[in-house]
Amino acid sequence: MPTTTAPPSQRAPGKALIAGCAGFIGSWLTDKFLEAGWSVTGIDSLFSGSRRNLKAAAGPQPFTFLEGDILDRLDVESDLIVNLACPAAPPRYQSDPLYTFKTSVLGTMNLVALAGRTGARLVHTSTSEVYGDPEVHPQREDYNGSVNPIGPRACYDEGKRAAETFLFDSHRHSGLDVGVARIFNTYGPRMDPYDGRVVSNFLRQALLGEPLTIYGEGQQTRSFCYVSDTVEALWRLSVNEPAHLGPINIGNPAEITILELAETVKELVGDVTLIFEPLPADDPRRRKPDITRAAEQLDWAPKVPLREGLSHTLTYLDDLLSSGEFSAIRSPHAAKQVASAR
Ligand code: UDP
Repeated sequence: MPTTTAPPSQRAPGKALIAGCAGFIGSWLTDKFLEAGWSVTGIDSLFSGSRRNLKAAAGPQPFTFLEGDILDRLDVESDLIVNLACPAAPPRYQSDPLYTFKTSVLGTMNLVALAGRTGARLVHTSTSEVYGDPEVHPQREDYNGSVNPIGPRACYDEGKRAAETFLFDSHRHSGLDVGVARIFNTYGPRMDPYDGRVVSNFLRQALLGEPLTIYGEGQQTRSFCYVSDTVEALWRLSVNEPAHLGPINIGNPAEITILELAETVKELVGDVTLIFEPLPADDPRRRKPDITRAAEQLDWAPKVPLREGLSHTLTYLDDLLSSGEFSAIRSPHAAKQVASAR
């Protein structure tokens, strides 16, 4: 008789608190919880998130938005807390490094305290940046990383590492129900076109008819995961039973150089030029997740290929940049280019 694997059971819908609900990934995860029948309270300081991302959540579902900071004491009834609250694009997190570090560490400690009071499971989004500029490739979860503790990226990298330390100690010493995801480069609709990340920069620049800015020689690599894939993995880590502790890498192992990414954008959009600019300090040279653990524990693998995901993102950013919020900076030349790429 053929053996079949029973699908994992999932937590029944209850009350979720999503920190960072107006952010790029957080807003999609909020929508996912609402669609599944959860009642959601979302909190966001709007430091890097935006109200425009909350439009979808403002439907008939039970959603409450709190504009606020996870650095402040929170008293929200919840069965499940998901922490996505932290600026994640390098220019954004470096623009206020003290705030980034505090949000990562003290903010997470605050959510641990809340989970302790309510008995909620706490799912935390950590990052591939805990591996720093890795000497081991691809990166597995048991690699301890290579981070410069005093460099310009440290506020984020070390902040996220310290948060993981606090979460794992809370699990070991207080029995806190924790799940930790390490998210690799994610892209897709609802990215902020001005967050300074490579995908948002290249697509925005292509749409505005500006040259794509390649830092260094463009030989550094990243592995880009489409947002619906990342959100599906976070959803499973949040609600699947039995629950997993992690850390679990979430990313797409399809590794490419930044120059190859620029060439792909060029193929999609057409007439674009490239310019080369200095490589930022401590920029990781290679990055690619080993996702064996995600496959085993979450039965998950990414599905959306890069070209398809970039094309959806391009359409989103095209609409956004043409909207009232941004239209003043949109050139007719760019609009023509995108129309011909479709
Ligand atoms: N990058 C680039 N041009 C840009 C923005 C970024 O060449 O306009 C490079 C950056 O130096 C890095 C990679 O693209 O090597 C990814 O950068 P991003 O800021 O998206 O994320 P990171 O993975 O560094 O956190």
